[in-house]
Amino acid sequence: MDFNDTAEEAAYRAQVRAWLEANAPKTHYTGDPEGNGSSMEASRAWQAKKAAAGYAQITWPKEWGGQGGNPIQQVIFNAEEAKHPVPPNPFQIGLGMCVPTVATFADQATKDRFVGPALRGEEIWCQLFSEPSGGSDVAAARTKAVRASDGSGDWLISGQKVWTTGAQFSDFGIVVCRTNPDAPKHKGLTMFWLDMHDPGVEVKPIHQMSGGSGFNEVFFTDVRVKDSQRLGAIDDGWKVSLVTLMNERLAVGGASGAGWTEFMEAARSVPGLDGAPAIKDHALREKLADWYVQAEGLKHTRNRTMTALSRGQTPGPESSIGKIVSAVQMQELGNTALEMLDQFGIIDDPELAPLRAGFHSSLMFAPGLRIAGGTDEILKNIIAERVLGLPGDIRVDKDVAFKDMPTGR
Ligand SMILES: Cc1cc2nc3c(=O)[nH]c(=O)nc-3n(C[C@H](O)[C@H](O)[C@H](O)COP(=O)(O)OP(=O)(O)OC[C@H]3O[C@@H](n4cnc5c(N)ncnc54)[C@H](O)[C@@H]3O)c2cc1C
Repeated sequence: MDFNDTAEEAAYRAQVRAWLEANAPKTHYTGDPEGNGSSMEASRAWQAKKAAAGYAQITWPKEWGGQGGNPIQQVIFNAEEAKHPVPPNPFQIGLGMCVPTVATFADQATKDRFVGPALRGEEIWCQLFSEPSGGSDVAAARTKAVRASDGSGDWLISGQKVWTTGAQFSDFGIVVCRTNPDAPKHKGLTMFWLDMHDPGVEVKPIHQMSGGSGFNEVFFTDVRVKDSQRLGAIDDGWKVSLVTLMNERLAVGGASGAGWTEFMEAARSVPGLDGAPAIKDHALREKLADWYVQAEGLKHTRNRTMTALSRGQTPGPESSIGKIVSAVQMQELGNTALEMLDQFGIIDDPELAPLRAGFHSSLMFAPGLRIAGGTDEILKNIIAERVLGLPGDIRVDKDVAFKDMPTGR
């Protein structure tokens, strides 16, 4: 493991820092933290600025508007960008997962049509995978696509997706559909891209405890898509979704905003029960010691991932450890911070609350982080099977025709 920047990485970091210093917003954006509504204009403007300078997707090839850079450069940019008060990024799912999937499986004209506008933040994409019957088990999707009976070769999509982040302001989406119920669940799926404004697409935002609506239910009623909107071969959608999911895992970054530094500052200044600074409290010190050990372990695990990226290798399944530890820690840290801040902890207004209500929003977001992109249990299964070499999860439905599964009827 090498924790330090190489000479090239240090030079790149200096270049990125200088550009951010000159171009990043200077004041905190006070709009909607979910990345919709009033903050959208600021998000789009920042995205366009990054795209013009080649920083929007550093690893993408130059002809797509990237820098043809390596993942470690993207990691460096993300880390440096996080030090500036930039607006929310509603483009991440599209650029990190959907557009690379379209670019891998669509023809040149389709690529040319979609890559630039997505990169510049002009068009937003969503990922339509999870359904009421399957989130962890994406292959259990029931939304169906059938050929239109008019001989056009078009497909008609019907069914429901759920937890679709950003669907309410997305222009396009990639959707995994059941096309062959007679085949086992992994072998009868097909992937399409579709226009979210098409007739038959209905988006219903889900109201969250944070007050926002980051994700949605999406209903499809005979939504007509052309066969040219198919990504990959018919019934081969599982392979296509693995490309999307692999890109999701590679979207390095993990949990942010756990607020370790802010927590320590607050613990030094906020009085505890006996009037002395909270940091003197023994119970709090015990928790701090536990978190410190976890944070150090996490830092070294991340360094291992960074080293693999730096050497041009793909990070292994051990990168699953990062989200398990950091999401739980984010939840515990937020909870303890709110207790420590006493009555000020319950104020959920960035303009009035101490630390701009940062711990409030991380406490509200943390449970979602423990579910999104693989639940704690699924990640533990991955670690058990692929890191520790323990026996695999029992998969009784692997070879059963989808229509014969209880959820397939
Ligand atoms: C903030 C957020 C954003 C999201 N954005 C999107 C999005 O944009 N697009 C999208 O398609 N989806 C999105 N999702 C959905 C997310 O992918 C699913 O919620 C997740 O995969 C879990 O699926 P589920 O909710 O159906 O839970 P289930 O899969 O039904 O799981 C329920 C419980 O059972 C456990 N469990 C399931 N299978 C196993 C197993 N084999 N072994 C042990 N335990 C198991 C789980 O850990 C969980 O505790 C988002 C979710 C969140 C929280």
